Order: sequence, then C-alpha cells, then structure tokens
Amino acid sequence: MRRALPWSIARATGANAPAAFVVSLAAAVLALVVQEALLPLIGASVTFLLLVPSVLLGAALGGLWPGLAVTAFGAIAGAVLGWRAPGLGGIVETGLFALLGVGISLVGERLFRADAAAREINEKILQREAHLQSILDTVPDAMVVIDAKGLIQSFSATAARLFQRQPADMVGRNVSCLMPPPYRDAHDGYIERYLKTGEKRIIGQGRVVVGERNDGSTFPMELSVGEVRVRQSHYFTGFVRDLTERQATQARLQELQSELVHISRLTAMGELASALAHELNQPLSAIANYLRGAERLLEAPTPDVERLRDPVARATAQALRAGDVIRRLREFVATGENERHVESLSKVIEESLALALVGIKGSDVRVQTVRGYPADLVFADKVQIQQVLLNLIRNAIEAMAGALRRELTISTQAGEQGEAVVRVADTGPGIGPALGERLFEPFMTTKKSGMGVGLSICRTIIDAHGGKIWIEETPGGGATFAFTIPPGAADEP
Ligand code: ADP
Repeated sequence: MRRALPWSIARATGANAPAAFVVSLAAAVLALVVQEALLPLIGASVTFLLLVPSVLLGAALGGLWPGLAVTAFGAIAGAVLGWRAPGLGGIVETGLFALLGVGISLVGERLFRADAAAREINEKILQREAHLQSILDTVPDAMVVIDAKGLIQSFSATAARLFQRQPADMVGRNVSCLMPPPYRDAHDGYIERYLKTGEKRIIGQGRVVVGERNDGSTFPMELSVGEVRVRQSHYFTGFVRDLTERQATQARLQELQSELVHISRLTAMGELASALAHELNQPLSAIANYLRGAERLLEAPTPDVERLRDPVARATAQALRAGDVIRRLREFVATGENERHVESLSKVIEESLALALVGIKGSDVRVQTVRGYPADLVFADKVQIQQVLLNLIRNAIEAMAGALRRELTISTQAGEQGEAVVRVADTGPGIGPALGERLFEPFMTTKKSGMGVGLSICRTIIDAHGGKIWIEETPGGGATFAFTIPPGAADEP
C-alpha cells in the first residue's frame, strides 16, 4: 500500500478523479433518498445496504479515494439521519459498513490499477505494432510470416506488390500459393520434415528460388527464412527479394558476359581450329601421299597387290591417327575439369531455372517443373549439367519470343535403366525435320547473332556423362530437348 498510495493520490487528482467523486457521491445521495423513502416499508433492517453500490461505483471509477469518500459520507449520513436508535447496535453497524467500504475501496483500487496498467500495456503494444507495421511497409524486401502449418500470418505491403496480391486475402492462406508447382505441393512436406528432423535446408541461408505472381507468371527471387518460437508455436519469416527488379543491371551484365563468352569462345574456336588444322594436316597429307602411291601402282598393267598392301596399311594408320587427334580434342573439351558428384537433380534444375530467368527481358513465360524422378539423386558435374540446362532453357525462351502461348516445362522421369531423363519442353515454333539432329553439330545456327555451338557443347557434356541427348516434339506444338544422366548412388529422396 505504501507504494500504491502516492500513485493513487496522483491519480485521484487526475482528470477522471473529480468525475468519480461527483458521480459516486451523487449515487450515495440518491441511495439515501431512496432509503429514507422506503424506511417505513423495510424498516432499519437493511441499513447501509443501498449505499454499498455507491461505494462500489466510486472505487470502480476512481479507485481508493472516491470509494473511501463515499464510505465516510454514508457512515456520517447514516449516523446523522439516525436510522437506528443510537446505541451499541448502531455503532457496530456503522463500523461494519465503514470496514466493508474500506475493503471495497481497496479491492477497487487494485482492480483500477490493474485496469490502468493493462491499458498502458495495450497502448504500448499498439504503439509497437504501429512502429513494426511502418517498418514492414517501408522495408524494401517483401516479408511473409507463416505458422507451422504454412498458413500466412502476415503479408507485407512490398510482398503484396511483388506477388500482386491483397494482404487481406492472403492472411490465413497457405504460403504455397506463392510458388509454382511442384514446390507448391512439396512445401508443406518441407516444413513437416524440418519440424520433425530439425535439419535446416533454407533457414538461415539465402537461396535463389522461383515465385509465382497472381497472374501465374513466375519470377526469380532470393529467399531467406528466419524462425521464431513463441512458447509451443513455431513461426517462419520469409524475406523475399525480387531478382527481376535488378533486371536492367543483371541483363546488361549478362549481355556483357555473353559477349565475353562469345569472344572467348571465338578465340578458343580459332585456337582449336588452327590446332586441329595443324594436327590433321600431317596425317591427311601422309594419307594423300600413300594413296597417290597406291594409285600409281594400280596404273601398272598387272598391279602388284602385295606391294599395294604397304601404302594402304600406312594410309589406314594415318587415318586412325587423325581420328585419335579429333577424339583427344573432344575429350579435352568435354572432360576438361569434369568433377562428378552425387547431386540433387531437383536442386540443380531449380538453380538453373532461377539463373536462366535472371535478366530475361519480359518474364511473361509460364514456367512449370514436373518432378517425376523419384530417386532425385544423379551422378553428375553440377556446373556442367547446369550449363546444359541453362542453354536449353535460354534457347526455349528465345524460341518462344514470338509465340502466343509461352510455356516452358521442365520435367524429370526415370529411364529404363534407372537413369534420370530430363525434358525441357517449349511451346515455340518447334524444329523442322530438315534440321533435326543437325542442330547438335557445331556452328549450326538459325540465329543472326547465334554461334551454333550451344547444343554441340550440350551434347559433348551429356556424352561425357555417359548419357544421350535428343529432340522430341512437344505435344500441341513446340520443341522438347531431352537428355539422360546416370543415377546417384544413394536411393533416397
Ligand atoms: P545458338 O543458340 O547460338 O544458335 P545452339 O546450338 O544453342 O546455338 O542452337 C542451335 C540452333 O538450334 C538455334 O539456332 C535454333 O535454330 C535451334 N534451336 C535450339 N533450341 C531451339 C528450340 N527450343 N526451338 C526451336 N529451335 C531451337
């Protein structure tokens, strides 16, 4: 009480205090009038009873002091009005009323303080919430908070702009609606697995993934996820950065990079061509010489077959040598720094897709991935397979530039021998039968600025992995490039 007293006095002199005094004393006066009026009916048996509500009112409105004031007023009024014949009974009754009044006032004080404290806390919470909201509304990254079931708890203004959705519609919905299939269907499983095993795959580390806007178009985004535990509940906060917003610079960077690659490829090709010419010149001229000698022997009226054997054998040896040179060069290109490991195919695809979508002008291509390879693990050089996928995806997007329907589907499937079959299907103009397999030959291009080496490099890489690459027709029109990769060791998802 010693600590409460100054606080109570301070408050009793506050803005609400006079009102509490006035209202409760007025109620007490009213109670006295009623009591007086009813006295002939009820007698003095309920003395002070009608005053109790006024004490309660005073304590509830103003705490200790208004309560005590009404108690004192009631006790004095009761005594003055002489409801009971003066004597011990009257004194005891007045004393009991006074005690009751003090008790009610003390309890009222406590309740009043608790109420004020709650209001203060509420005020602080509201202030903090407003502060937090202002941060969320202005932070450049989009923010989405979800619970352990994947249901959205909060959706920031930037997230609303980014995904073209209304925050009010999003709260309570599953976050998976912000991602394209198959991640959409797998997302609940990711959370469940994390809650069960505690194994962090994305929490605490940023990753480039694909997001889906309300209109179904997809875009590359950088996602980092934080985790909050409130008692038994789990919440996850996802910060999303749109990578297409950096498109202009990225695109320029990509252009510069591809120019660089173009030049370095040209240089490499030039070097390769001159090395090839140099290496092949010798065996070819040797072959020509041997065959010319053989020809001369054949000009004789009765050619000596035995003497022919030697130049033909030598020409054969030189031809094999030339073949060796070519093989060696191809091996050099293909296996240069081939580092093969067990890799997650879906992750390789996801990353390649995100990389391929960065810097693509007008990202109005609908991208779909269909995961049909149950083992998921492959034995591959990740960087090289990504190069293949990047090349195929870029080709597909370029091919669909003028098409009405622009749909890119990357699907996986298990092959007959357990290998993974990856298909990159587009809805572009497709590839006529005249071109077909020839596209895999070096320098075969239909583009003005094309080099025509992309697909040939793809084939070399896939060959080096012991796989195959071929072209199919997309059902409904378009081209599908398919290739195989050997399976990884472990057979677990
Ligand atoms: P580049 O892209 O430099 O021309 P590539 O070897 O990657 O070299 O492609 C060779 C050719 O194959 C292209 O010029 C194009 O005509 C054709 N092509 C590749 N992918 C597709 C596709 N998805 N749809 C139609 N044509 C394609």
